[in-house]
This record gives sequence, structure tokens and C-alpha cells, in this order.
Amino acid sequence: MSFARSQPFQHIQPLQPLNSGQLNNRVNNITPVKAARSFKENVPVPTQDPKTKRKKEKLSTLCKTPPSIVRTRTGRDYRRGTFLGEGGFARCFQMKDSSGKIYAAKTVAKASIKNEKTKTKLLSEIKIHKSLKHPNIVNFVDCFEDDVNVYILLEICPNQSLMELLKTRKRVSEPEVRFFMVQIVGAIKYLHSRRVIHRDLKLGNIFFDPKMNLKIGDFGLASVLPAGDARKYTICGTPNYIAPEVLGGKTVGHSFEVDIWAIGIMMYALLIGKPPFQAKDVQVIYERIKKTEYSFPIDKPISPEAKELIQDLLSLNPLNRPTIDEVLQYSWFKGAFPEKTLETSLSNTPQGLNEISKAQSAINFTNTKASSGIYTPKVKNPVEILRSDLHSEQPRTMLPQSLSPGDTKDKYQEVDPTQMGKPTRKVNFNGTYSTTIKRLNQICFETYQNMRRLEYSKHEMLDAMELPSCENPTLISKWVDYSNKYGFSYQLNTDDIGVLFNDDNTILRLHNSDKFLELIYHENEGWTCIENSSSHPPTQARKQLEIVDFFAKYMNSNLSNVSANEDRKETVFLRRYTRTSEYIMFEMTNGTFQFNFKDHHKICISKSGSAITHISPSRMIQTHPLIFILKQGNFPSSEVPDCLEKIAVIKEAIKRKAFKE
Ligand code: ADP
Repeated sequence: MSFARSQPFQHIQPLQPLNSGQLNNRVNNITPVKAARSFKENVPVPTQDPKTKRKKEKLSTLCKTPPSIVRTRTGRDYRRGTFLGEGGFARCFQMKDSSGKIYAAKTVAKASIKNEKTKTKLLSEIKIHKSLKHPNIVNFVDCFEDDVNVYILLEICPNQSLMELLKTRKRVSEPEVRFFMVQIVGAIKYLHSRRVIHRDLKLGNIFFDPKMNLKIGDFGLASVLPAGDARKYTICGTPNYIAPEVLGGKTVGHSFEVDIWAIGIMMYALLIGKPPFQAKDVQVIYERIKKTEYSFPIDKPISPEAKELIQDLLSLNPLNRPTIDEVLQYSWFKGAFPEKTLETSLSNTPQGLNEISKAQSAINFTNTKASSGIYTPKVKNPVEILRSDLHSEQPRTMLPQSLSPGDTKDKYQEVDPTQMGKPTRKVNFNGTYSTTIKRLNQICFETYQNMRRLEYSKHEMLDAMELPSCENPTLISKWVDYSNKYGFSYQLNTDDIGVLFNDDNTILRLHNSDKFLELIYHENEGWTCIENSSSHPPTQARKQLEIVDFFAKYMNSNLSNVSANEDRKETVFLRRYTRTSEYIMFEMTNGTFQFNFKDHHKICISKSGSAITHISPSRMIQTHPLIFILKQGNFPSSEVPDCLEKIAVIKEAIKRKAFKE
């Protein structure tokens, strides 16, 4: 495994594997959980069979207090402050930089890193954590080492974790837990969008920042799931929080749903006061988990809506658990919702929580979701459907609930597949691969400029000009706008079928192979493409594929083609579409703009605005240099009604894109 790109240590010397032969895997050296007298959660389980109990010294005890000043190789000085806390692996100290800014330094003793496996795990934690940035994830600041310790410098969370809050409060009110849940869901949604499974979500790993916002920390067991590899097989986690499929170990495997399970455990623990499967003996905990044997104590009443959500989150079958987006759609979230968490909540239940009005709660809920990065789909203006393209009604039947794409959009974005050493195949689209919306608007600008230039030069002699070659471009031959629920589906004249989901990501099923592409949109990085096989799709892509197939079936039986099938020349997909009462505009990855007009005529502008294609209502297709059509005033073989007006409308539409969004 290469870590060259992440360069985690800017320091004195590389990590030294130490001499002792003792096995030091982070998880299998941590004291296995003992008979739990009270709610105890801070001990991850061994990686081997949970039946094997091994009692060993906590690795964190090997961690010596750092010197009062830690100097990095690049000359930064950090002044060590007070001790903050201890986990199984690390001790945490305050560190102040020269400007007085305070951080938490998670300090790992080199003496505890005795073999390659432990070193790899620590580097993996650093690499994963370093790659994350989200308002509800502890921010990774820096990383360095001295002779005895490795330091991971983190944003300071001075108000401890949800575990301490629960210990003090014994139980937490529903409105407060609602608020916590939204922040936790926001962070997990983000993690899963980067294909990261945390695998050790628990109250003790969710900290409060100075403003009392929750921050998920400790990525020691986190794992990146490459697209082609649907499951993980290592038994890990913390007994009370372990999902049943993790206990299935080597045979069953687990995936993102283990984090959803952990949300259920945390919600139950906060509302009831202890985790649902709590028992003195770890083996009993495991037995209860495998049978989902828990109850809601009558003396600790909670609302039926809360029970409903907990029951679903704790579904034995991972596929029956709600997706991360579905969690927030539960009616429990419609209850009283505070604006923020107060510092006084650390010791007492705040006053007046149940008096928050319905309207105010709805506003607080929306605001909290927004600040936790939870995307709320834009409400699109209803536009009349173009019957010419549909030749029939839009589907009236609702897709079954089970097909909900939920948040699966985000589950395929890799953190760094090359670094994680897994063979995810990325496909490059002739340089347009990392196109962003900004670049897309740039293409609009270039096309608009070119069209304008051609207008001006239409009186010049044609033979003095360099004319483009005029093959027909790849077209959208059928489409169904189902964006009020799922997204926009289309079939290309190459027969590839795509769905542009409402979250801007696309699945494109390639017609001549069992391959499908996941095209994931990321604001800063543009579209990332991952190629998968339909016969072995990653678990998380199955629902979306089902939706693609649903649309494919619908389009094949209900809609007619715009033009005859073309052989694949290139892989093209729809980047953006715009509907007005006059036309629907498609912006394709190869820079082609397609306009389907209300009068059943379709016009494409391609080659940066230098070529124009007409598709007649009878599906005759012809492509010419735009300058030629501008000069002639119309297409040579079949007349297009209001041809120049249509071109003007197209130019204006592209111009608006270039300058507006
Ligand atoms: P381990 O990997 O050993 O489980 P943790 O990441 O859980 O280590 O950190 C150990 C302890 O350090 C935590 O329980 C907590 O008390 C403290 N800690 C960790 N991160 C922070 C932080 N960002 N701010 C303040 N304290 C922290």
C-alpha cells in the first residue's frame, strides 16, 4: 500500500516498527469488554472470533506524556496543555500553537506500533480522517511525530462526548436527541458519500465542539469501500453497537448499513439511558444482537414515533434499515425541535423544549439539516410535458417505495482509490472527466461566442472558411422527466440509458456490455466516473440500477425513437437539462446542446457551436456547418419552420447559461 500522496508525517523520521514480536493490532490488543456493570462502551472488540476473550493492556497506557513543547520538522512549535482523555489506543492532550490557538493532539505511543499491520491501521486512520471535511466531523489539522509519539492534531472539542452527557443526564429528551440525530446523520451521509464506513460509531466517539455542535471523531476502525467491493468481513466495532451482520463475520460481510444500525443504538441509548442489548457478558450481548432481542421499558416511556424509527434502524436485515436520507423522513422528526444545543444541556434538561411551536420546529429542523450539509431537493417549477417526446402519458404508477434512491447517490464517491490500493476502474471522458458546473458554463460561453462570431461572418465567402466535419452527434432519443420523485431518464441513440438523479449524479447503463457507469457529481471536483459490472453491482447501486431498468422498460414500451440507432462513437451522458414552455434543452458531456422544440423539430448545436443538426418530426436527421445554415437561412433537404428564430432562441439559451449560473 502506498501512502506517498497523502504524506501524513511532516517530521523527523518515519514510523519505526518496533522490535517486540507481540501482536499489536489496534483492535485485538484492546482489552475486550468485561462484564458490564454500568453502560460501558469505550472498548472495541477483537478482530478475531468474538468468542475468544483476551485481556491485554490498553495500548494507550504506553503513551508517555508529550514534552511541554513539541517541535515539528517544519519548525512549528506546539505547547502541550492539559490531558483531555484516553481511548484504547491513544491519549489526548491540549496543544497550543504559537498564535495561541488550541487543538487536541491525539497522541499514539510509537511503542504501541510494533508491526506493519498496526502501522498500516494508524496510517489508514490518518489518511481517511485527513481526507474529510464536514461541519459535524472533528476537523483534522496536522500530523507529526517525535521519537516517542505520533501526534494527530485535531480541532478541539472541549465539551466531551455524548457518552459523558448521557452519564450525567441519565436520559436525554426527545427534542434534544432529534437535534443530535440530524447532525449525526449529516456527518454519516457525508462519510458514506465518500465511501467511508465509520464502523465504530458510538456515543463516546461523538464530541461537542465549543458551540455545542456534534462532531464525529475516531476513525481508527473506518474503512473505505471501493465500488467493486461491496462488503467488508472484519469483525470490528464495540460490543453494544455491533450490527448483527458484523457478527456473521467472514461469511456474511457488512457494509454502510452498520453505521445506520449504530444510529439506532445511539438513539435508543440516549432516550432510554442504556443501549438496547446491554448485558453483563459480551457473549450475551452478541446473542441478543443476533436475535434483535430488546424491549422498550415501560418505566422509561418514549413516543411511538421514536419507537418506530428505532425499530426500523435496528432491523436485523441490513437492507430493511432506512437509508441515511430516509432516516430524516420519519415522522419523529416532526416533533419539537430546538434551534441548537445549549451548554447547560451537558448537566440538565433545558426548559421549554416541548413548548417549541410546530412552525418554529420545522424551521429549526430545516436550518439544522442545512448546516449539517443535508441537501434538500430544489422545488422545480412544474412545466408542461412535451407530448411530442413522450407519445404517451408520464408514468402514473409510483415506483415502489423499495426503489427509493435514498442517499445512494453519495455512496460511490471514492476517497482515493489508488491510495487505498483497490482496483476500482475510473473512466476518463477525453478530458471532460473532471468537468465542473463552472467548466460547463465555460463551454456554454465558448459555444455562444462561436455562434455569435459566425453570425457576424455570415457574409464572408464560404470557401474562405474552415468548415467543420459534419457527422451526426450522439442524441437523446427518448426521455422521461420524473424529477418530482427520482430524476430524469433518457435513452441515447447509442442505446445507452441514463438516469440523471435529482442529486445531480447519473447512472448510465451501457447497451453493448454488462457495464454501467456511476457518474458522481462533486461541487469542487466535478464528475467522477466509476465503471461497474451489472452482474455484480455494488450493493448500494442496486436500487438505482433498478430505477434505471424501470425507466428503460417504460421508455422501450411507450416512447418512440427520435432517430435511428447509432453505433457507439464515444461515451456521452447528460450533464444538465432545462425546460421552458418552448423547448427542452439538453447539455451533453461532449459539448453538444440539443433543443427539442414544442413543434416536434429538434436542433443540436455541436463542435463548440460550429455544427448544427436538425431532426425532423419524421426523424430525418441532417448535420451541416452552422455558417452554411446561417447563410442559407434554412436546412437544404427539409425546411425547418422559423429556422433562424429557433437558432436565435438557442443562442440566447446558451448565453443565459454562460452568464447566469
Ligand atoms: P482511540 O483511538 O484510542 O479510541 P479517541 O479518538 O477515542 O482514541 O480519543 C481518546 C480520547 O481523547 C477521547 O475519548 C476523548 O476523551 C479525547 N479526545 C479525542 N479527540 C478529541 C478532541 N478532538 N477534542 C477533545 N478531546 C478529544
